[in-house]
Amino acid sequence: MTLTMTDLPVRIRLKIDTAGPVPADPHTPVVGCCWTFDSWHNSAGYPYLSWNGRDQPAHRIVFALITEMDVTGLDVDHLCRNTACVNPSHAEAVPHAENQRRISKHQVKCRRAGHDWSDPRNVSTRPNGRRYCTQCYRQGNGGHIRRVSDAQLIEIRRRANAGETQISLATEFGISSGLVSKIANRKYPVEKVLACSS
Ligand SMILES: [Zn+2]
Ligand SMILES: [Zn+2]
Repeated sequence: MTLTMTDLPVRIRLKIDTAGPVPADPHTPVVGCCWTFDSWHNSAGYPYLSWNGRDQPAHRIVFALITEMDVTGLDVDHLCRNTACVNPSHAEAVPHAENQRRISKHQVKCRRAGHDWSDPRNVSTRPNGRRYCTQCYRQGNGGHIRRVSDAQLIEIRRRANAGETQISLATEFGISSGLVSKIANRKYPVEKVLACSS
């Protein structure tokens, strides 16, 4: 398949500059320069264009028009990892889960606290293939945002086991009664928290 932009609508073609940057950090080897697109970009750096009456990511539209592929339900992944690029030979239409897997694979630090994932001790993989931060997990949040302090964990557990209702503890600490139940039943890793912070 030869990718050419001569069949693109003129109003789209005129916005494309095929002499964009050479990809600095592609996740899959690509040929040629990135194509930049003269329009507004969203906060993640994707250029948009008006197509079929609504604003849509330009790289998807250019890709679909040139490759004549139906990308409905698919992600158009930037192989060049330049979100501003609309070069269809720098893109591949893949299922959303595959795109997520690729993003996760190239993630170099955890999103929550920025722990360095180039150190293999800081990252583990769930059975479904998604990765998570072992540093954050070790620090006691089990991959979730901490809503209570270590001292509160211990107090909640003590008082729940002494007979206070989960509802009243949940209200007092501003958490769900489900979380109170987990804490009371030792499903919340308080021991790990204490081992880590001592
Ligand atoms: Zn590119
Ligand atoms: Zn982390």
